[in-house]
Parts: sequence; structure tokens; C-alpha cells
Amino acid sequence: MEILSGLSQSEIEKITTELNASKFRARQIHNWIYLKSVSSIDEMTDLSLKFREELKKVATVSAVKIKVKQVSSDGTIKYLLEYPDGECVETVLMRFDNRANLTACVSSQVGCAVNCTFCATGKRGFIRNLDYKEIIEQVLTIQRDTGLKVTNVVFMGQGEPLLNLDNVLRAMQIFNEDFQIGARRLTISTSGIIPQINRLAELDMQSTLAISLHAPNHDIRQRLMPIENKYGMDELKNALKNYVDKTGRRITIEYLLIKDLNDTVESAKQLAYYLHDLKCNINLIPYNPTEKNDYKRSPNDRIMKFKYLLEHSGKKVTVRLERGGDIDAACGQLRGRM
Ligand code: SAH
Ligand code: SF4
Repeated sequence: MEILSGLSQSEIEKITTELNASKFRARQIHNWIYLKSVSSIDEMTDLSLKFREELKKVATVSAVKIKVKQVSSDGTIKYLLEYPDGECVETVLMRFDNRANLTACVSSQVGCAVNCTFCATGKRGFIRNLDYKEIIEQVLTIQRDTGLKVTNVVFMGQGEPLLNLDNVLRAMQIFNEDFQIGARRLTISTSGIIPQINRLAELDMQSTLAISLHAPNHDIRQRLMPIENKYGMDELKNALKNYVDKTGRRITIEYLLIKDLNDTVESAKQLAYYLHDLKCNINLIPYNPTEKNDYKRSPNDRIMKFKYLLEHSGKKVTVRLERGGDIDAACGQLRGRM
């Protein structure tokens, strides 16, 4: 049985050709899948009843199930999705102030091998990669469930996207071409896998690259992220500068604020120095406590002071709006509770 979600126009044409139908039928099916986000072949009402019956014998729209759905008072919706092999990942839909913007936060792997000490996903270890269709299905599920069109995609759910790069790039291409989401509205977030950052630089990627830095120096980063032992901050900095040179794009630096660990005045100064010659914006993320460690969220006055110190160094700094606090919507948290 073919699963239509994730197929390109030409792959759908192969199916319609086998059913002796025209390319125009493939175009119609493609629209129903990506732009109108139907859940079943029965809903493809501009296809004849007879053709729909034939199509149903060889194909189905989707293979994922919504296992859990939580809706936050701020409009954030969090889904736990189940694939046919029983593995689950989370996907979150966030609405920002501008109501026209609907951002899907998608997972790229089941679990994650990078094992950052603050992250609920990392605690589970690595289970498997998602293939590009499974990534696509996450956004399609949101669109089917809400009847809305996703406008932005960020790879900030479970997993390390740069350790599953071929599937992530294929999914990005489909988001771009089939969903008609602009490249600049797609963001990859990474813990800093240097060889793959270099590969993205060579590809002249026009999407946004976000780096989970989270520390102002080697010692603190080592405590938070074991990957620092393999790909250290100095080497990372060179890779990021090369990326900016090759693509012309500004990088987003993500920085979790954990009380007393990396939120001091000294940390802010070191961070400002580390970033001073890099074309980047900084996104501060108040740490969202999980029950599995002792880290605490920085108090608001400290967050504001940290922000001020960085702004003083000439950078644009935002504090990530907390979304879905009442439904454990910090990435990595829903799966952790199931
Ligand atoms: N593996 C990639 C992408 C997924 S994690 C990466 O690490 O960048 C997406 C973001 O969620 C990362 O910036 C990560 O540091 C952050 N995150 C993980 N656990 C968190 C928590 N408990 N509170 C707030 N942010 C968290
Ligand atoms: Fe993996 Fe990202 Fe979590 Fe680190 S923060 S363990 S890289 S998902």
C-alpha cells in the first residue's frame, strides 16, 4: 500500500499512470495532500467515485496516528504521534503574536544520541532516524487536525537533525516545493555537528541555521553537552564563520539560561566576546525544568540583565517566549512523561 503523504508530484504520477489516469489527476491528488490536507481519499471530491475506489485499493493518505494531543491556553498544540512500528515522536504547533504565522516544531529522530544533560530527549538515548516522509507526516498531521496551513518549520523537536541530514534535507525540499513554504521560513537547530555544518555551507543553504550553544566557555559547555568533547567551541566558531562567508546568512545562537550555571555577568561577558566577530542573532531560552535533573530556570531579572549585557555588545537579542508552559511543551518533554 502506497502512503501518499510525502510523495512528490512525479511519484504520484507513477501511481496514476498505473491506474491509467492522467497527470492532471496526480496534480489534483497532490493539492489535496499538501494544500488542502485531507485525511482520506474519500475527501478528494473532484476525483470520480470510481477512480477514488481504484486509488483506495493501492494507496492511503497517511500512516501515523495521533496518540496524545494537548492544547495549551496560549494556543500551542502538542501532539505525540505514533508511526506504524509503534515508535512515537512529538510535534508542536506554535502560534506567535502575528496570528498569520503558524510554526511547526518537528522531530528528526526518535530519541537522540547527543545526550545533553539538560534534555529529556537525550536521556532516552538514540532509537532510530525518521525518514523524510515521517518528518513530512508531522506537518501534514498538524494541518489535517487544525485545518490550518503551517507557515514555518523549525527542527527543534526530538533528535539531532544534522545526524540525519539526508532525510532532513529531503524533507526541507518538500516543505519548500510541495508545501510552498519559503526556504527562509525553515530552521535547522543543531548541537553543533561540524562536518555537517560545513556540508550545509557548501550547499549554500538559504534556510536558517540555529546553533544550540548554551555556554560561554569550554568548561561549562562540556558539563552541559558531551558533544563539546568531540566538536569544541573554537573549531565550531571557525565552522560558523565559514558558514556565514559561504551563505551570507546570519546565524541564530540559542542559549539556555540555567540558574547560577551559565547566567552570570561573567558568562554574559564571555559569551559576548565569543560571538563578537560572528554575524548572528541571539535567542535566550529560559530553562524549562524537567524532573530528571537539578537545573533551575534563571529568574526573570537575571534573564533581563543577561539580555542587556549582550545587547550592549551590539547583538540583537530575543528571549524565547514561553509557549505551552501548562502542557510541558518545552521540546523533549511530552515524550518524557509518557
Ligand atoms: N538537537 C537539536 C534540535 C532539538 S533540541 C539541538 O539541540 O539544537 C531543540 C532546542 O530545545 C535546543 O536548543 C535545546 O537546547 C532545547 N531544550 C532542550 N531541553 C530543554 C529544556 N528542558 N528547556 C528549554 N529548552 C530545552
Ligand atoms: Fe539531542 Fe538536542 Fe536534546 Fe541535545 S538538546 S540531547 S542534541 S535533542
